[in-house]
Amino acid sequence: MIPRICDAHCDTLFAIAIEGKAPEACTVTRERMARGGVSVQTFALFCGRKGPQGTPYRDALDMLAAVPQVGVPMITGALPDERPETPSGILSCEGGEMLEGSLARLDEFQQKVRLRMLALTWNFENEIGHPAKEGPKGGLKPFGFELLRAMDDYGILPDVSHLNEAGFWDVCERAALPPIASHSDCRWLCDVPRNLRKEQARAIIDRKGFIGVNFYGFFLKEDGVSALDDVVRHVDELCELGAEDVLGFGSDFDGIETWPEGLAHPGDFPALMDALARRGYGEALLDKLAGGNLWRVLKAAEAAARH
Ligand SMILES: [Zn+2]
Repeated sequence: MIPRICDAHCDTLFAIAIEGKAPEACTVTRERMARGGVSVQTFALFCGRKGPQGTPYRDALDMLAAVPQVGVPMITGALPDERPETPSGILSCEGGEMLEGSLARLDEFQQKVRLRMLALTWNFENEIGHPAKEGPKGGLKPFGFELLRAMDDYGILPDVSHLNEAGFWDVCERAALPPIASHSDCRWLCDVPRNLRKEQARAIIDRKGFIGVNFYGFFLKEDGVSALDDVVRHVDELCELGAEDVLGFGSDFDGIETWPEGLAHPGDFPALMDALARRGYGEALLDKLAGGNLWRVLKAAEAAARH
């Protein structure tokens, strides 16, 4: 049985709309999703690449316009009870600068499509807060707190991947919805600012959020040379902390230039599930890791939405 995988992050829309890649040349394709048993792929509107000098709102619209090119239906209405049998997509935001400091913009995106998660920053400071890359200090800004309230109303999960530590703790304290880290690994195994410290992972576990293990070689291992076993190692460590109910995958495909040997695209997910099964993970837990946990938190956020 191929479990129904849910992947919390990829940059395929960016690759198509901004980098000009042909859809069939992308890492995430419908055919590979089908082959790998990927039920739901989260497609990010990645808007942070130039910080304040960029045109993030414009970029986000261009990425939305590219949605039909990925060839899988986006779920913009209510989520079905069960993970879909055939490849589908949902949308997220990576880099809240696309809102240009305006809640009206958030409303506009929610009217057009439904964002399920929103990464407050990418690697640059914005109107919302400060990125992990620029150090741990400096929490959310006033607009960041306003935005969290609005996201709670819409049922959009606050994604802390890329956010710095002070901002992370602000989200934990102020958001009603649980924090998620859509594509981050263990900092105690690979010491890069984009990965989570143990106390951050514990906070996500306590609040029943979500952690998506990132397949980027340099987040799995400091020398960037990684294999399936390195993904298993991060999964093991998080499970040891008690993350069985909040853990899954955030591949970062189409946003990374190095990945574990044997895990190059969505068609390789079964190899990862096999590696976890060999390690001793049972069927019920494998199903949660594959997609059950992400689906659970997405459904919870949708149920908590006020409009
Ligand atoms: Zn990212």
